[in-house]
Order: sequence, then structure tokens, then C-alpha cells
Amino acid sequence: MKSTTNEVVESHMAIFQKQLLYKKIVGQSSLKQRKTKLKKLLKAIEITYRKEIQKALFDDFGKSPAEVDLSEIYAVIGEIKYALRNLKYWMQDQGVSTKLVFVGSSSKIKYEAKGNVLIISPWNFPINLSICPLISAIAAGNTVMLKPSEYTVHASALIKRILNELFDEEEVAVIEGGIDVSTALLKLPFNHIFFTGSPEIGKIVMRAAAENLASVTLELGGKSPTIVDETADVETAAKRIVWGKFLNAGQICIAPDYVFIHHSQFNKFITASKNILFDFYGENPSISQDYTKIVNDQHHLRLKNYLEDAKSKGAKIVHGGGSDLESNSFEPTLVTHIAEDTDLMQKEIFGPILPIIVFEEINEVINTINGKEKPLALYIYSSSQKKINHILQNTSSGGVCINNNDLHFYNHELPFGGVNNSGMGNSHGKFGFMEFSNQRGIYQQHIPGVVEWLMPPYTHLKQKLINLAIKWF
Ligand code: NAD
Repeated sequence: MKSTTNEVVESHMAIFQKQLLYKKIVGQSSLKQRKTKLKKLLKAIEITYRKEIQKALFDDFGKSPAEVDLSEIYAVIGEIKYALRNLKYWMQDQGVSTKLVFVGSSSKIKYEAKGNVLIISPWNFPINLSICPLISAIAAGNTVMLKPSEYTVHASALIKRILNELFDEEEVAVIEGGIDVSTALLKLPFNHIFFTGSPEIGKIVMRAAAENLASVTLELGGKSPTIVDETADVETAAKRIVWGKFLNAGQICIAPDYVFIHHSQFNKFITASKNILFDFYGENPSISQDYTKIVNDQHHLRLKNYLEDAKSKGAKIVHGGGSDLESNSFEPTLVTHIAEDTDLMQKEIFGPILPIIVFEEINEVINTINGKEKPLALYIYSSSQKKINHILQNTSSGGVCINNNDLHFYNHELPFGGVNNSGMGNSHGKFGFMEFSNQRGIYQQHIPGVVEWLMPPYTHLKQKLINLAIKWF
């Protein structure tokens, strides 16, 4: 018999209660203690479990070991190593200046742990997108309940095994399960919820968080446009776009969702893209060890339907288009002549289909982008700084890559996140640490200050002092 949401809530309540009691200890943990935990995690991901992680992701959706190394292992160990190098500075109180009118006092910002946090992660990079927020949460001194995706069962089971081995559940607990489990967890009064997933579910998470006034980080998705203008090096652009789009079979939140190509570059772009696809994945990508499968039938059929819908409205498939439901392989597909009212242009594609749209004038492109929700990423290929600046000034997005795509994700010095429909809040490096911290503003009076001269009764002299304060301080 299926358990009800209330029963599921109760079963997780016990762990939550333990974490509630433990949060003070974790919150007050020292730099050394936090670094010890991060080092344990580093060793587990980089050495002990690297092969098992590769196997789990191959079993889940045929991901090649090299791609797992690049997009899961490297991303996680990069985040841990960066945190180990910088945590000392992040944890330090940050002194700030105080206005002259408050002479006799000092001010500082103290980073205190938010407390009990919930992390809900998606399936497309299950290790990376579960463990990277966990690193930030541990660095900031929080307890964590982590719910990985139900779609990648091997990866989720492995995450649970690794974290069970490294942490007591009063500090880090992994809860496997689907929507019912997620719904139950969202009822618990966490201090912060870090969600990575679709905008649609992001709204559900935010509504649930509102019940407890929990703060949220929403790392969402959307359609990330790519522009290749008349001044771009088209061969280089094609190579980088094809890599960024078809890595993980396009199941990437920051994949170039669709491309605007200047009409003068169109033929060269199509030829270059086809050649590069051949170089990357050979004659038959469905049997290439380097080309990932679609995660399940549901997503496979969704992509097939997008393609059928586009074809019925006049789109032309200039490369690929085939798929095999049994193996869940879906060919890298290039589509042109796409109508705006198609699923391909209205919904996040999240798969190996690349719509290519020809443009004459850059402002048409800007208008189309601005007519849609603000994207997670925007990619610009151009050799004209003037044109790049024009696009930057007239659009908005969570992040930007110029003359490349996807790579802004890997620079820990940059905040990673979306804006409005593509998300709110940031992850990576210090930005991730801050997301899991309360920035506590502390003002301390040391010797009597001039403010006391401004207290009632408001004599003529005090009014003059107030006027002076307004004018000068
Ligand atoms: P999803 O939103 O369907 O699921 C994400 C998580 O939410 C899963 O753990 C799932 O169990 C849970 N969930 C699903 N339905 C729920 C519900 N009704 N109530 C509560 N929880 C629920 O997303 P997905 O299919 O796993 O991932 C794909 C989406 O995630 C895409 O939109 C993609 O762009 C986005 N994404 C964003 C980032 C980022 O960093 N911004 C990274 C990866 C993926």
C-alpha cells in the first residue's frame, strides 16, 4: 500500500528532529572541523568512489567515463579544493566602515550558518548538482537533508551510500524518493531550501517555503540563447556550440538551447557543425561510447513530440532526427526553418535538438530574446566588442559566456545562477557559502557617541545638530 504524505512526513521528522538538535554544534564548528569534513568528501569523490560514480552514471543513462570525470568529478573536486583554499577568509568576520555620525562604534558582518537546510537535486548531473551545494552548506556550517532525483537511481543510491559512510544522519542525511517524498520534506520547517530543477517545480518549492518563511535558492532552467554574428569565427563557434549542446545529450540546464546565426554565416555553420558531429561521435552516434543516452522513455517521447510538432509547422531537419526508444539513444539533431509557435521555441529543449534561426539584424534577435523569460545563460559569438556590448546592454540573463558556452559554470569566482524564471540566488565558491549563511550585521558601541546628543527633548540646538547631520553626514 502506498504511504500517505503524512506518514512520509513522520518518517523524516525523526531525522529532522535530530538535525534540529544538532544544528547549534555544526553551526559553531571550527574552520578545522569543516575542512576535515570537506577533505573526507574530496577523498571519497576523487579516489575511493570515482570508478563507482562512473559506473552508476553509465548504468543510469549511458554516460561515458570521461564525461563523468569532466562534468561530475572535476566539477565537485574543483568546488571542494576551492573551498578548502578560501574557507578561512569566507568564515572571517568582515569589518565594515561606520559613518562619522556614529563615532565611538564599530561594525562588522558575521557569517552564521542558516541552520537546517534541505537540498533537492535533479537527475542530469546527479553527483555534481547534489554534492556541490552540499559542499557550500557544509562550509557554511549547516545540517543537510539531501533528496537526489528518483530518475537516476544508481547515482542516487550511491550518493546515499557515500554520505552515510562519511556523516552521521544528524548532520547529513540522504533521503531517496520521488515527488511524494519531496512534497513531504517541503512541509518541514527548514531554515533554507536549495532547489535545482525546473521553473515549474521551483514555483511549488517557493510556495512550500513560504509556509515556514524559509529562504530559498532556486537554480532553475529555461531556454539559453546563443548568437553567432557576422564577425564571429564560425568554425570555432560551431565546434564550441556543438560540444556544449550535445554533451550529456543536451540534457544540461546551460546548454545552448537555440542558435541565432547571421545569414552570411549560415551555410558555413551548418557544414562545420555536421563535420564536428562526425568527428565527435562518428557515423552512428547511437553506438558511440562518448554519446550519452536520454534519461528515460518519458523524456525521449517528449523530445520526439517536439520534433514532430516542429516538422508539422514547416521545420527542416538538416542533420540527425532519428531515435531508438529501446536504447533511448537520440541522434544529435540540427533543425532549421522553425516557427516561433513550436514547442522547440516555446519550451526548454533539454535534449540533443538544436534549432538554428537565421537573422539579418541584431535588434530582431534582441527583441526575440526579450520576448521570452529571462534565460539562465546567454552566449555571444562575435569579434566586435561594440556588438557584444550592445547585446549585453539590451538583454538580461543569469550568466553570460562570450566566444564560448557553458564554461562560466566552472569559474568559482563567478556567481552561478539564474534571474526570475531561471532562478534566484547563486551557487559556487563564496557565493554558495553566502547562500547558506546569514549575513549578520553587528554594530557595537565602544565609547559614548554623538547620537546621544540627538535624543529628546529636541531643543533648538539639537534641531540644528540634526540639520547638520542631514546636510553633512
Ligand atoms: P524537476 O524540477 O522535475 O525535478 C527536480 C527535483 O524536484 C527532483 O528531485 C524531483 O524529485 C523533485 N520534484 C519533482 N516534482 C516535484 C513536485 N511536484 N514537488 C516537489 N518536488 C518535486 O527537474 P529535473 O527534470 O530533475 O531537471 C531538469 C530541470 O532542471 C531543467 O529545467 C533544467 O534546466 C533544470 N536544471 C537547472 C540547473 C541549474 O543549475 N540552474 C541544473 C540542472 C538542471
